Amino acid sequence: MALEAETKSIVAKFDYTDDDVNKAVDEFLRQMGEGLEKDGTSLSQIPTYVTGVPNGTEKGLYMAVDLGGTNFRVCSIQLNGDSTFNLTYTKVAIPKELMVAKTAEELFAFLAKQIELFLKTHHEEQFVAHIRRRMTVSSPDGFRDENVFRLGFTFSFPVQQIGINKGNLIRWTKGFDIPDAIGKDVCALLQIEIDKLHLPVKVAALVNDTVGTLMARSYTAPGKTGAVLGAIFGTGTNGAYVEKLANLKKPLTGEYDKSTGDMVINTEWGSFDNQLSVLPNTPWDIALDKTSVNPGIQMYEKRVSGMFLGEILRLVLLDLVKNPNVSFLRDDNSNSNDWKSTTTIAQNSGIYTPWGLDTAIMSVAAADNTPELSTLRQELESTLNIYSPAYDDAQAFKAIAGAVARRAARLAAVAIAAIVLQTGKLTDPASADEPIDVGVDGSLVEHYPYFRDMIYETLRIIKGVGGEGAKRIRIGIAKDGSGVGAALIALVAANME
Ligand code: ADP
Repeated sequence: MALEAETKSIVAKFDYTDDDVNKAVDEFLRQMGEGLEKDGTSLSQIPTYVTGVPNGTEKGLYMAVDLGGTNFRVCSIQLNGDSTFNLTYTKVAIPKELMVAKTAEELFAFLAKQIELFLKTHHEEQFVAHIRRRMTVSSPDGFRDENVFRLGFTFSFPVQQIGINKGNLIRWTKGFDIPDAIGKDVCALLQIEIDKLHLPVKVAALVNDTVGTLMARSYTAPGKTGAVLGAIFGTGTNGAYVEKLANLKKPLTGEYDKSTGDMVINTEWGSFDNQLSVLPNTPWDIALDKTSVNPGIQMYEKRVSGMFLGEILRLVLLDLVKNPNVSFLRDDNSNSNDWKSTTTIAQNSGIYTPWGLDTAIMSVAAADNTPELSTLRQELESTLNIYSPAYDDAQAFKAIAGAVARRAARLAAVAIAAIVLQTGKLTDPASADEPIDVGVDGSLVEHYPYFRDMIYETLRIIKGVGGEGAKRIRIGIAKDGSGVGAALIALVAANME
C-alpha cells in the first residue's frame, strides 16, 4: 500500500495543470516576440533565409546530405510534383579519427568522397554527362548545367547562418573536435572538396533539421496549403515556423527573396524559459540539470525530449528504491497475488547508472495494457536487469513513466499552440476553413503511444485555441524530413540563383 500511496504522490508532482499550461503559452508568445526583436534572448528566433514553403507541386531531382553525429547520410530525391517523392539513400559511419581530425579538410574530403561514391553508384548517367560537358565547355561558369545537382546540407551543429547557403561553425558538439573548422563557412568547406573531385554538385542550401521537417510536411500534406510549423521531438526538441517579415525586427545580414513577405524562423525553443518562470521544476528536474553538461540552459528541452525523459524517470525510481518506507523492486513485493516472484535488481542495472534508462522503455510501459503487465515486466528484465519484477513494481513504473511523458506532451502543446496563435491563422477569416498543418518528427512523437493524443487534449484547453481550434490543427509525421526537406530547400535556393 505504501508503494501505491507514494506513487500517487509522485505522479501528482508531475501534474501540469490547465492553468499552468495557459500561463506558459502566454510566456512563450512573449519570449517569441522578444527573440524577433533582438539577439541574446531566451528563444533565439534565428532567421533561416528560407522565405516560403512548398505546396506539393514542386518537381526535380535534388541531393541532400546530413551530418548529424555518428553517421553521414547521402541521398537523392526525385520530387514528382504531386506530393510524392522517391528517395535513394546511403548511410556511412564517420570514422572516429575524422571527428577529431587536425584539419577541416580531412573531414570534408571524406564527405565529398562519399558523395562521389553515391553518384557513381546511383546516378552514373548524370555523372558521365557532366564530365562530357565539362570537356566540351571551356568555362563551366556562367551557365546553369542541367546535370549539376543542387544539394541541401543538413548540418546539426551550432552555426551562425548568414545566407541560404552560408553559415559559420560556432562550435562542435557530440564528440567532434576539429578546431581548424571553427568560424569557417561549412558550405564552402564542403564545396571546396566537392570541386577538387570535379563532382556535378552545388551546395545550394544549409539546412536546419526543423526547417527540413516544415518543408517536408508542406510538400507531402494534402491540401496544398503549406505547413505552419515543423517540430522535432527526438533526442532534442526544436521548432521552425513561418513568420511574417514585418514582425522580424532584428537586422538581417544575408540576401533573401523579399517577395513572399515571409521568413522561416528557427526558434531554438529548447531554451524556452531558462529562467524557469513558468516551467515545472520538481526535485528530479533540479537533480538532472545539476548533473547535465549544460546546467541552467535548454530547460524546456530537459523536460520534453527523448534524451532527458528517461533520466528524469530514472532519478525518481532511484529515490523510490532507496526509500526505506517503501518496498519497490525488492523481493518482499512478491506477495502480490499473481505469481511467486523474487524481484532482484542487478548492481549493473541501468537504474543505478546515470543516463542508463532509455526513454524507449517508457513507450513499452505506456503500450502495455495487458492485465499482468507482462510485456513491461519482460522489458524491465531484458533492458534494466530487474529480475522477476512484481506486478506492483511494474504498475508503479508505468504510472510514473506515464506522468513524466504526459507532462512532456502538455509542454509540447504549449509550444505548438503558441506558434499557431502567433501565425494568426485561427482568427484570420481568409483561412477560416483551412486545416493548420504541423509537421513533426522524432522517435518520441513517432513511437510514444498517445503522445499526439495528449497534445490534442491539451490544445483543447488552451485559451484562443479551444475545441474548435484544436480540430483545425493537423499534426502529422513528416517522414524522411531531413532528406526531402533539405531537397526542397535546395530547390528554393536554386530558384533564387
Ligand atoms: P534524433 O533526434 O537523434 O534524430 P530520434 O528521433 O530517433 O533521433 O530520437 C532519439 C531519442 O528518442 C532518444 O533519446 C531515445 O531515447 C528516444 N527514443 C527512441 N525510441 C523511442 C521510443 N520507442 N519511444 C520513446 N522514445 C524513444
